[in-house]
Parts: sequence; C-alpha cells; structure tokens
Amino acid sequence: MKRSIPSDLDLSNRSVSVLCGGVGAARFLSGLLDVVPAENITAIVNVADDVVLHGLHISPDIDTIVYTLADAVSSTRGWGLEGETWQAMAMVSRYGGADWFNLGDSDLGTHLYRTGRLQEGASLAQVTAEIADAWNLRLSLLPVTNDRIETRVTTVDEGEIGFQEYFVGRQHDVALTAVRFVGADEAVPAPGVQKALADADVVVIAPSNPVVSIDPVLAVPGVRAALANRTSATVAVSPIIGGRALKGPADRMLQELGFESSVLGVARWYLGLADYLVIDDADGHMADEVDEVGLAPTVTNTIMSDPDVAAALARITISAALA
Ligand code: GDP
Ligand code: CA
Repeated sequence: MKRSIPSDLDLSNRSVSVLCGGVGAARFLSGLLDVVPAENITAIVNVADDVVLHGLHISPDIDTIVYTLADAVSSTRGWGLEGETWQAMAMVSRYGGADWFNLGDSDLGTHLYRTGRLQEGASLAQVTAEIADAWNLRLSLLPVTNDRIETRVTTVDEGEIGFQEYFVGRQHDVALTAVRFVGADEAVPAPGVQKALADADVVVIAPSNPVVSIDPVLAVPGVRAALANRTSATVAVSPIIGGRALKGPADRMLQELGFESSVLGVARWYLGLADYLVIDDADGHMADEVDEVGLAPTVTNTIMSDPDVAAALARITISAALA
C-alpha cells in the first residue's frame, strides 16, 4: 500500500515531541528545526547512558544534542566538540586514572558546570535548560527524568556490565543476552514530559537505538502509557537501513534480543506505540510487510548526510503523521 504524503502542509503551528537518543536524534532535531518553530518542539532525551566519571556527571545524549543543534559538534566524531583538545585526559592517563572514556578539555567544562549545579541542588532538567539556553537553543530540551537510571547489559562472556563499559570500553564488540534499566521502576518523568507527550500534534520516535536509547525513555513509569494512550499520531523513523545500523550496535542488539535486524524488526519493536514508520528507500521493497506488521510505512531518503536531507526527512515524517 503506497500512501501519498502532501509536501506542502503548513507545519508552522504544529507541536512536535521527539523521543531521543544521541547522534541520530540530534540530526533529526536539526532538520526538524528547519520545518517547525523551535518553540513548538520538545525533545525528551535518554539519560540511562549517563555516567559518573572522575566525580563528574556526564549526560552523553543530552550533550550530543546540544552540541549538534549549536553547530558545535565534531563533524568527524558526531559527538563532542569540534576543535577539541585532550590535555586533561592525558593528565588523567599519567596518573593511571580511568582514561577509557574520552573527555575533551572544553567538553569537561560542561560536565564541571552540570556536576556543580547538581551538587547545589538543581535538577538535571534545570541544568539542561541552563545549558541549552547558554547555546541559544530555543526548543525545549528535557531529560526524560531527573532521577538516576542506568543501563546495564548482560554479556555472554563477562556477565553484567555498565552501558559505557560495554559501549565505549568494549567498543560494543561483545554479544549480549539482556538489557535492563536500573532505577527505572522508581523514576518519575521530569516536569513537562507527560504533558509534551499528551499534547503534541505529533510524537516522533527518533532514528535512535531502539534497545538502549528509546527503551530506557519508555521505561520511565508513565511514559510508555502516555504514548500508547495518545489519540494523535506517533511516527517512528527507522535507525535500521538495509538491515544495518548506520553506526553502533542497534542491528546486533535487535538480533540478540530476538528481533530481526531490519525495518520489520523495528516495526515489531514499536508495534502498539507508533502508528507510522518512516523507512529508507533501500527498504522500499519491504513497505508492504511493514504495513502487515501494523505500522503504515513511508519510504524516503533517511540518511541524514547533510542538513537538506535532515530537513526533508523531518518534513515528510511530520507530514506522514498528519496526512
Ligand atoms: P547514540 O546515543 O549517539 O549512540 O545514538 P542514537 O541512539 O541516537 O543513534 C544510534 C542509531 O541512530 C544507529 O542505529 C544509527 O543507525 C541511527 N542513525 C544515526 N544517524 C542516522 C541517520 O542519518 N538516519 C537514520 N535513519 N538513522 C541514523
Ligand atoms: Ca546514547
């Protein structure tokens, strides 16, 4: 079934909330800012990859989004700052300290500020708003919760380890049997999260890792229900293209958890939560099968290699959900 999506819908007064991980979500949001006013956008961001190192609270997904939207992100790495230097890390290494998680000199300033404010009693949402404001971002950037939740993965060879030990320490090159989000059951959605999900004209599930970026957002009590109970549309953008993740272990993780690594696996993962799935041209031949799973497919270029593609993807994603 081929749906035709109008390309000229007026999106300027639509409100959009986006469930976000890091890099894929950041690129999508930068495109979205070209088609919907910043004031109408709420990004609800994963915090289960947050880690405390050297006594500092690091929020990788929030920082990736801030740096990307501020046009300050490293174009080669996709995370951290462009033009970064690494002298502080070299000093940590000299002392034999934990140097497996790279923190650039300027980036450290963000973590110092965040940690200091948290110690003064500010919430993560408050500090995040302050950081976004300092970079002149006008969208609403919300951690999904102010509470601490922590992704832990069970590996075949080593038992359970922390997410960053898996992702950065082991370069996600080990097989998993399970993933859990410690603390999620007792977490409370940050102020504004539930309302942003209930009120948005469109909720987008960004092209982020479904297992370790989107699932921990959904694991915060009330979030999954808010999504399932929406009367307006929810649309997901597939992070899997031609059976593979563009970057990172999303493809292997889906398989290891019993889902196929394809747009069908993504469709089954989001069944009951999203009504629509945007898939890449490369997967156009699977559109009918996505439809049979129960999500209405839209086929387009989803590889956000430049800002124009990201903006076009954002436009078609929102339009697909409104059409
Ligand atoms: P992380 O937190 O930085 O690891 O990133 P995310 O969870 O946001 O994203 C990782 C996933 O995003 C991977 O599965 C990628 O395939 C996907 N991704 C990254 N860039 C793009 C893109 O331009 N288009 C699509 N469709 N997916 C992308
Ligand atoms: Ca992440």
